[in-house]
Amino acid sequence: MRPKASEVPSEPGEGHCTRTVEQGAFCIARCNCGWTGPARRARAKAREDAAAHLER
Ligand SMILES: [Zn+2]
Repeated sequence: MRPKASEVPSEPGEGHCTRTVEQGAFCIARCNCGWTGPARRARAKAREDAAAHLER
């Protein structure tokens, strides 16, 4: 009997998980795939960058 792989471990580059990081006065969207958005003054803008990246 072989154990079933019920859960596939998330591999780097597989799927996209974005988050926003603050860097000084700026907010930058980042993804676990290595993508980084442009520095934004507003977190809302960084979120938009992240959303746009996820749609790709
Ligand atoms: Zn990504």
